[in-house]
Formats: sequence, structure tokens, C-alpha cells
Amino acid sequence: MIVARSRSELTTALESLRAGSGRLGFVPTMGYLHAGHLSLLDVARERSDVVAVSVFVNPLQFGTSEDLGSYPRDPDRDLALLEERGANLVFLPEVREMYPRGDQIVTVDPGPMGTRLCGAYRPVHFRGVLTVMTKLLSMLEPEVAIVGRKDFQQLVLIERMAADLDLKVEIVGAPIVREQDGLAMSSRNVYLSAEERQEAPALQRGLAAAVALYRTGERGARALLGALQQELAGRPLLRLQYAEVVDVGSLDEVDPVPPGSVIALAAFCGSTRLIDNATLE
Ligand code: AMP
Repeated sequence: MIVARSRSELTTALESLRAGSGRLGFVPTMGYLHAGHLSLLDVARERSDVVAVSVFVNPLQFGTSEDLGSYPRDPDRDLALLEERGANLVFLPEVREMYPRGDQIVTVDPGPMGTRLCGAYRPVHFRGVLTVMTKLLSMLEPEVAIVGRKDFQQLVLIERMAADLDLKVEIVGAPIVREQDGLAMSSRNVYLSAEERQEAPALQRGLAAAVALYRTGERGARALLGALQQELAGRPLLRLQYAEVVDVGSLDEVDPVPPGSVIALAAFCGSTRLIDNATLE
């Protein structure tokens, strides 16, 4: 496994890896890796010959009141996990390597879909995500990039960006990996106290209740969201920020709810913000 920390090391590494030809699969991450991240490597491996992973906590996607400073980091552990899982290349840049001019003046605007769902509460987030993704795709030029469905809005926006900007990369969504009790794996789960960790799986149970109701034939968005809210009632540690049933193309709310729509939520568990979603089908 080659570890590149600078652009020039990345270029050299890509030249040698590309020399054997074959498809490059790319997995962007912010590190502090868990089994959800590592599952993306397996999806990349199925679709490509060489797998590259980036580990970069991108300041541009954090609001001023968010957790950039405290975001969990453990690059040595990440590298060991990536080597074990068979990554061929890890790009681990410093902030100044990604943003050498300091300010990023030209950025990628996610448009109105970036103001929906999480974007309503994190106004700079998706501009930061799409901008860093564009930079990483330009640097690595992968044939395929793997993005987790856990970050549903991010996946939809990256797919739309690739289509609208004619990027020569295939974007592939990968399934959500969960803890045994249903909680979606996230680097931020480490923030949860023991008590909060006990409450957090109710989010997934609420989504599952909505999916179960949908499968009985219920098509009303309010009823489906009601099933979710019922699961969260009486759990003071969990505070829903939003829950919506949306179309996966436009992110617009749908009611009645056609098959393939997504029920998506963000909730605070104590002071930790968690997101999750499920497809209604
Ligand atoms: P992050 O490090 O949080 O930026 O995540 C990097 C990538 O891993 C993104 O594509 C996420 O959607 C994906 N990811 C994070 N958590 C999970 C999970 N529990 N299951 C599947 N993919 C995930």
C-alpha cells in the first residue's frame, strides 16, 4: 500500500499504479474508519483493479459552530485498517496541500438541492463536500467512486454533480452498514455517552417502523412519519431535527409516497448530530 501525503507523491503513486493499466476505484473518507467505510473498499474492489482511499477532514464542509476541531482522528489506525483491507493507495493530505492558496474562491454550488434536508441546517456543508470531491476527482481521475448511502443527500448531490458537470467518473452508492442493534455506523458515534448510545438505535427502529407501515400499503407521508415519531416519543435524549419523505432525484417531499422514495432524518442524541435514512419499497 502506497501512502501519499502530497500532490507530487500522489502523482508518482498514480503513475506507478496506472502503469499496470486497469480501472481505478476511489473511496473518499474523513478517516476515523469503521466497518462502514471499509465496506466501500470491497465495493470498489469489485468494480476496479486498483483501490485508492483518501483520508481528509475537509474544513470547507464544516460550519463555524460545528465540530471541525474535535472531529475524531487516528491516521495510524486508519492506515493499518486500510492496509489490512487491501487498499493500494491512501491519499492523506494536510489542509494546506488541498487548499494551497488558503481561501478557496471558486467552489461548486450544489444549487437548491443543497438547501434541502441537512442543507437547511448546514448551509455551507454541501458546497464544501462538492468542492473537495471535485478536487479529489481531478487529482485522482478514478473511473469509479464509491459513496455510502448513509449520507443519502451527499450521494444524491455527488451523482447529480457528476451528471450536470459531465465528470468522467461513475458514482456508485453503497449500502448502509449498521451496528448489531441497528445504529448506522458513524465516526461521530464515538461522541455518544453510554446512555445516549443506548437510545440512538431508536432512530433506525423508527425508520424500520415507517418501512413496515409502507409495506402494509400505507402511502401517506404523514402516517409514515408518524410511525417514526412514535418510536422516538418518550426518549428525551433524542431530538429530531428533521424527518422527511423525499424523491431521490429532486429531494422534494412526496405525498402520496411512490416506491423508491427515501425517508431521511437528522436527530440530536444529546449534543451529537446523527443522520440515517431508509428506502420505502
Ligand atoms: P465520512 O468519513 O463520514 O465522510 O464518510 C466517508 C464515506 O463513508 C461516505 O461515502 C459515507 O457515506 C460512507 N459511510 C459512512 N458511514 C457509513 C456506513 N455506516 N455505511 C456505509 N457507508 C458509510
